[in-house]
Amino acid sequence: MGIVIGVFFFLYGIVLGSFFNVVGLRVPKKESIVSPPSHCTVCNRKLGVLDLIPVFSYLFLKGKCRGCGTRISPIYPIMELVTGILFVLSYAMLGFSGELIIAILFVSLLVIITVSDIAYMLIPNKVLLPFAIVLIGLRLIIPLEPWWDSFLGAIVGFGVLFLIAVVSKGGMGGGDIKLFFVIGLVLGTTNTLVTLFLAAFIGSIVGLIVLKRTGQGRKTPIPFGPSIAVAAVISYFWGADFVAWYGNLFY
Ligand SMILES: [Zn+2]
Repeated sequence: MGIVIGVFFFLYGIVLGSFFNVVGLRVPKKESIVSPPSHCTVCNRKLGVLDLIPVFSYLFLKGKCRGCGTRISPIYPIMELVTGILFVLSYAMLGFSGELIIAILFVSLLVIITVSDIAYMLIPNKVLLPFAIVLIGLRLIIPLEPWWDSFLGAIVGFGVLFLIAVVSKGGMGGGDIKLFFVIGLVLGTTNTLVTLFLAAFIGSIVGLIVLKRTGQGRKTPIPFGPSIAVAAVISYFWGADFVAWYGNLFY
């Protein structure tokens, strides 16, 4: 891949990642994503131009608000960095192709819902719905092989998660179910099932770590969205490799 173009994708990613943080944190609270401008939630100090530089401003400020010294959550620079990396990865894996548009939209959606789910245990419809509509349209223009695999994947993703929700009596959030509809659309049937498998695996490791660190009981709700997001990215780019590797274990 062209290094210069890769750097461009990275910078573009961290800037948009900064915006995705705002969307993920404000949309569930029904706040505008444009006004008021970014500010410290403790002292209301407006962020200056230098404070708005993704990732680096966090390092300059040593993770503290310039006004009141309140610690800024590391989730902001982490998600900016993650978005930058995912944008470069998308370009490196797909080059300039129609699929790159789908990849960029898909990873953007995953970043936003990860922020919302960590902050509020919620995957907002207001984010899912517009992405779902655009991705349905794009999958008609840039289809999987065979073309109907997106739609079968969406139905299977939604259906399996819905069944799990019914059987586990609310162990699965409505947002997770709808998210799997979109995952199915983008990934097709096989990779959607791979995503489910990996998400369950990652989710149980995350669960163990969180329970160990907080020392709370097994009833503590843990957002599943971030695990689904990580699983979906792995499956999107390396799902076929994973299926081949997993199959080889048994022959
Ligand atoms: Zn402050």
